[in-house]
Amino acid sequence: MTTPDYRTEAEGLAEQLVAWRRDLHQHPELGYRETRTAALVARVLADLGCEVRPGVGRTGVVGLLSGGRPGPAVMLRADMDALPIQEESEAPYASQTPGVMHACGHDGHVAMLLGAATLLARHAATLPGRVLLLFQPAEEGDGGAAAMITDGALADPVPAAAFGLHLWNSMPLGRVCAQAGPLMASADILRIHIRGRGGHGALPHEAVDAIAVTGQVLSALQTIVSRNVDPQEAAVLTIGTVRGGAAFNIIADQVALEGTIRTFSAAVRETVLTRLRVLLDGITVGMGASYTLAVQSVAPTVVNDSTVSEVARAAAVQVVGNTAVAWCPPMMVSEDFAEYQRYVPACFMMLGSGNVDLGLNVGHHNPRFDFDERALPIGAALLATAATRFLVESK
Ligand SMILES: [Zn+2]
Ligand SMILES: [Zn+2]
Repeated sequence: MTTPDYRTEAEGLAEQLVAWRRDLHQHPELGYRETRTAALVARVLADLGCEVRPGVGRTGVVGLLSGGRPGPAVMLRADMDALPIQEESEAPYASQTPGVMHACGHDGHVAMLLGAATLLARHAATLPGRVLLLFQPAEEGDGGAAAMITDGALADPVPAAAFGLHLWNSMPLGRVCAQAGPLMASADILRIHIRGRGGHGALPHEAVDAIAVTGQVLSALQTIVSRNVDPQEAAVLTIGTVRGGAAFNIIADQVALEGTIRTFSAAVRETVLTRLRVLLDGITVGMGASYTLAVQSVAPTVVNDSTVSEVARAAAVQVVGNTAVAWCPPMMVSEDFAEYQRYVPACFMMLGSGNVDLGLNVGHHNPRFDFDERALPIGAALLATAATRFLVESK
């Protein structure tokens, strides 16, 4: 089998892809609540002749498309969850659910993977192997990928390779990054609790002021990335929330902080965590306070496999042409696609969906986020092409 011209075929599906995307956009669902989305996915996959397993990782769906010839299994993944954001849009397909919005483009990811499934199903008779179609819940920090893996999504069949992609509004429409090596950072959530001793605002000598301790901690933490991490390495330590205190004349007995660490290497992550503990130890002991620190891993680093990325790159050249395939500088954002990469050699791709002229270049997670829907057939073709090329080449 030679890989079909999926791009041309996908352009013929454009209307259907936009219809799916807009339907999902109007009915966004938060992580682990994607029941309507999952039902749509399951219905389409069943119509295409896939074996369908719903309820994998709570609200996830796994489809299995079997080719007419023997071969390995390849996995394609889309995420389905929306965000707790109130959409600010005049579009006729704006979210109909108050406070919930597809502001990351996952509606597009679902539509593109359904499109890829449609294209692959048309050529199933000649396909040498099987395609595992993963529709994942709860990508936005809630462990959806890990939940699907725990529920056996990668167990039967075991995929020999995996591909996924993210629409990306800061890249122009149709540009594709499909490269080996690190692409996205690891992410951890930090929860720090500083405990002092409460008291009267006028009698500080009888209390331990948790807010004064927090002030020292916040300023000391800024030196970890600037003074302890090798300047050739990348790291972020952000404190996003500070909560404490009750009234103007009360010395706060405790303060709660939340933040995040982003790095590309385990060693740098360890340096940041070690310095964080040392500073918290020193400052709290020195000021008569105490603390607890909880670190929760959200996602490891997205690192693309070199062999699988070669296939992805060739697929990208076939779909968008050589000049539209670019190298992406690694990003400090995270993606739980990295969880699959613990078990399966994989490539995560970025697909440009921005269009400055149409005002479709607002960043992800913004209440005005929207993307150029002409990216949908490109993404569908890209996934179908990558899967087919992998199966054909590993025969
Ligand atoms: Zn997101
Ligand atoms: Zn996303």
